[in-house]
Amino acid sequence: MKKNIFFYFFLTSIVISYSQQLQKKTLKLMGSRFDITVVEKDSLKAIEYIDIAIKEISRIEKMISSWDPNSQTSEINRNAGFKPVKVDKELFDLIERTISISKLTDGAFDISYASMDKIWKFNGTLKSMPSKESIKAAVSKVDYRNIILDKLNQTVFLKFKGMKIGFGAIGKGFAADKAKALLISKGVKAGIINASGDMNTWGRQPNGKEWMIAITNPLNKNNAFATLPLKRGAIVTSGNYEKFVSFNNKRYSHIIDPRTGYPSAGIISVSVLAPKAELADALATSVFVMGVEVGLNRINQLNKIECIIIKEDGTIHTSKNININNKK
Ligand code: ADP
Ligand code: MG
Repeated sequence: MKKNIFFYFFLTSIVISYSQQLQKKTLKLMGSRFDITVVEKDSLKAIEYIDIAIKEISRIEKMISSWDPNSQTSEINRNAGFKPVKVDKELFDLIERTISISKLTDGAFDISYASMDKIWKFNGTLKSMPSKESIKAAVSKVDYRNIILDKLNQTVFLKFKGMKIGFGAIGKGFAADKAKALLISKGVKAGIINASGDMNTWGRQPNGKEWMIAITNPLNKNNAFATLPLKRGAIVTSGNYEKFVSFNNKRYSHIIDPRTGYPSAGIISVSVLAPKAELADALATSVFVMGVEVGLNRINQLNKIECIIIKEDGTIHTSKNININNKK
């Protein structure tokens, strides 16, 4: 389905809720803004629960951060081409899942994209297109098939020197799932973990209704173009409106096609709805790389996964089980 909208329209999501039984805290974790909300009448208890979630997210950040030299992820990267590194089961399993997603997306999703971060810098310092040669050299280090897992010894080995892994496209979703699972295990009936717009909910609003999300154009927030119940639990949006580079009037996103080494262009936003934020996060990034046609085709083959894409030309494209026009 297609719909024309203004060029700069993009997608964000907000949870609509209203009740005093909601307790919320906003803070910076994993370099992003997190809002943690729990449904709990007793405010002291609520604060305790929110603290549990914060500790859990910080714990995960320590494990997966590739800029913290003390993380297991950094140890894997330091030992690229040198030796396998024994890691916690949790990290091993996460890496194993990322490799499954790489296979599912024909390599559009690849945590070994990270060696490209020497070439593509999205902090404003990159003023011209990197040379073909430098891109070619860097992309030769990118290939999930060279991430060698040894299940028995629980080790991870990056086969070649110069290889690097990074969890930028899946880490927030993973952390949000973990925090949600921990709160559920502590008896929290309902809540929302919102990692900069990557939304993970459970239970229901205090008034008994399902959590609703409004899909809006942030430049015109009064005009949500769809409001839908968040039945799937999580909605994650990847967009190129925060981190990007522009050369010769073309905008390149911070999402890299691991097969070419070039940033993807053409799409401004991809939102994926899924039962788990981790998969939604990874797939949103993947669809960016795969493009509308291949991306929707892949999403349409997956159970309980939906997707909304906004292209640079202003058109909106959705997976087959979602019709944003009828969900007002
Ligand atoms: P956002 O940062 O907007 O939440 P994403 O979840 O799509 O967006 O994550 C983008 C980040 O993922 C990039 O900043 C980079 O760290 C990493 N990344 C870029 N391209 C890929 C890719 N093809 N596969 C895996 N990770 C990627
Ligand atoms: Mg992502």
